[in-house]
Amino acid sequence: MTTKLPPYTVKKSARKTLSIYIERDGSVSVLAPNENTDEEIREIVTQKSYQIYKYLAEREELIATKSYREITNGESFLYLGRNYRLQLVKDQDAPLKLKDGYFFLRAADKTHASEIFKEFYKGKALSRIAGRVAFYRDKMNVVPREIRIMELHNRWASCSRKGDLNFHWKCMMAPLTILDYIVVHEMAHLKHETHNEAFWNEVDKIIPDYRERKSWLRFNGAGMDL
Ligand SMILES: [Zn+2]
Repeated sequence: MTTKLPPYTVKKSARKTLSIYIERDGSVSVLAPNENTDEEIREIVTQKSYQIYKYLAEREELIATKSYREITNGESFLYLGRNYRLQLVKDQDAPLKLKDGYFFLRAADKTHASEIFKEFYKGKALSRIAGRVAFYRDKMNVVPREIRIMELHNRWASCSRKGDLNFHWKCMMAPLTILDYIVVHEMAHLKHETHNEAFWNEVDKIIPDYRERKSWLRFNGAGMDL
């Protein structure tokens, strides 16, 4: 009987042992030594397939049961790393306002609150992020072409080959130190396309504690959602 294998990609390098990674988007990567043949790799993935499927199933469940925020008084929403409680109001001049330490949402807009929150974050993001890019531009000696705010799939930000920087609106949920790390990371890509040593040196010059910020984001990023 043959076992159905999860789809996986193989990266070979001068390493000693084979490792299997499940990426954040659920795809499976195999890092293998150069000597391993495709059959040998397939054999190891077959042996591990039960664990891989089990892990993927658990991950699915976690995503499915992820507690989405409720649109009720007292629910908290993130903005620049701080939690603000929600207050539903009868009427106000905008669907959503952040003032006096609260998010005020017009009760009539409750049903499409997540769209309204997204618009709120997007509206704040461009000027804030453009300001941080301007701050680091001279220090890093790079000039991005355009800055865009969008909904990116599974990433905080990206850098196009043409030199455009794209940021997820969710970046506005992160504390400023983390937002700066995201900005500097993308700006460093204007000099180095891949995450090679020169790239990380560039980030390190500007943010010497980038490792802590990076791991903070990796750990806390999953909870930064609507
Ligand atoms: Zn990167």
